[in-house]
Amino acid sequence: MNGAAVSDLPLKTERLRINEIFHSLQGEADAVGFRTVFVRLTGCPLRCQYCDTEYAFHTGEWRDIEAVVATVQSFGAKHVCVTGGEPLAQPNCLTLLTRLCDAGFDVSLETSGAMDIAAVDGRVARVVDVKTPGSREAARNRPQNFAMLTRRDQVKFVICSRDDFDWSKAYLNEHGLTQRCQVLFSPSYAEVSPTALAEWILADRLDVRFQLQLHKVLWGDVPGK
Ligand code: SF4
Repeated sequence: MNGAAVSDLPLKTERLRINEIFHSLQGEADAVGFRTVFVRLTGCPLRCQYCDTEYAFHTGEWRDIEAVVATVQSFGAKHVCVTGGEPLAQPNCLTLLTRLCDAGFDVSLETSGAMDIAAVDGRVARVVDVKTPGSREAARNRPQNFAMLTRRDQVKFVICSRDDFDWSKAYLNEHGLTQRCQVLFSPSYAEVSPTALAEWILADRLDVRFQLQLHKVLWGDVPGK
């Protein structure tokens, strides 16, 4: 018998497939405007019709988690956002989140709402999508996640039409979401005007937080920003 003991072998399980790591301003959610390092993981099991990160579905390089953390540290930013694709589709994402928290970063996770968030490190701010009918992926929503959300977490609705807005209002009430966590309403880029969505929220007196994707206002719809 030759070779190393099993415990000496490289830990393949400590790797992740990474689409890109970049430094920008956080464009969405509670940390909007802060200098942030984004770690975008490859792959997503969903196919939302408005997806702006299709380039992350299949392309990426395998990297050791420690190397990812070191790259994040090299930017000298306090905030880190782990995103995708759907980052939780790679189980090792959970390890990355914990390592980033251990390293002292303010860590957020952007997830589609289709995956179980129970095992995510409790120090992470979770930004959980609620897919509307206009996304064509509403059947993937996982309401079991809602009971785990706290005031630090956020749910995000991307509104594609007036019908989507009305559906979202009813969904909020059905699941008591405004009592649990922050609720973000964002217009689908090029489908609903920001002004229209703002007017609807005011007219219906909703306790939700309107948001625009700051990075698209600043740089347009380009990868790596
Ligand atoms: S969940 Fe996100 S990454 Fe996946 S298809 Fe939808 S918008 Fe794109």
